[in-house]
Amino acid sequence: MRKRIFTIVVLTAVALLMNIDTVNAQSAQEELYEKRFSLYRKTEAVTQVPWYMLAAIDQYERNTQKDSDGNIVSIAVPDELWYGAGNLMKLNENEAISLFQGKGKDGNGDGKANPGCPEDVLFTVANMLLEEGHSEEDFKIALWKYYRRDLSVQTISNTARVFKKFQRLDLNDRAFPVSTKYNYSYRSTWGDKRGFGGRRIHEGTDIFAGYGVPVISSTYGVVELKGWNRFGGWRVGIRDIHNIYHYYAHLQSFTDIKIGQIVKPGDILGTVGSTGYGPPGTSGKFPPHLHYGMYKDNGTREWSFDPYPFLRKWERMEKSN
Ligand SMILES: [Zn+2]
Repeated sequence: MRKRIFTIVVLTAVALLMNIDTVNAQSAQEELYEKRFSLYRKTEAVTQVPWYMLAAIDQYERNTQKDSDGNIVSIAVPDELWYGAGNLMKLNENEAISLFQGKGKDGNGDGKANPGCPEDVLFTVANMLLEEGHSEEDFKIALWKYYRRDLSVQTISNTARVFKKFQRLDLNDRAFPVSTKYNYSYRSTWGDKRGFGGRRIHEGTDIFAGYGVPVISSTYGVVELKGWNRFGGWRVGIRDIHNIYHYYAHLQSFTDIKIGQIVKPGDILGTVGSTGYGPPGTSGKFPPHLHYGMYKDNGTREWSFDPYPFLRKWERMEKSN
């Protein structure tokens, strides 16, 4: 008996400690968001570059780097650009950098441009954007000159629009991509071999449900693609602010969504169907299901990863609400 009570006490204590840990981790994350937000706003006040542009560039760089989650600001301006070509000693006094025609700027007024100082980095990036002008189009040109990649420019511009619309950085809610009010089933099938259209692997998870069951946006993001494809039938692609592309295929119908539209978790995109494996309109060659794929982009290439563990997590999150 005593042993049992002891076990219960220990288990309760462990549970409490774990809870405190989660709460601590959450508040540390919130603190980080607040710090970032106030730095973006401060730079906006000085340069007139909107905070959400700076937030989107920072977010993009954080997503394309490894292990930078805990940094306040993740933007890494290459040394040669920051200090100026020929400034091999990396002299960071304002006069030295301007002598070598570096882009590095002093944002916190200490007379030095330090690439490790978040205020200096944001001030520098804002000034690089302003080199092309003040409009959103001008910023796109500046981004293209910096990244030299259309997808990077598009992703940053779209992420900025999402931040602007929701006016906050913590956009971490998620939804299960098929309405959980209906019957559905799925299992882990990522990587399975597929016959149709030559040798391919299955780049997603199939969620089986009846015709007409709502297909739902799992994340915040922007519609990047909508239309027919021989394999996917009627499909929608949404890129989220973590630079992950979510692919929804074999839809029976679309709701009134357009390319470029901003979505949030829970928004209805269309309905489950069995379209695909032929010319536009082909349907019924397999049982109705949503094919859900996830692709990560690291700034140079894009690859498919297994959505199954995420689906399980989002399903649990929905059921606990
Ligand atoms: Zn599939």
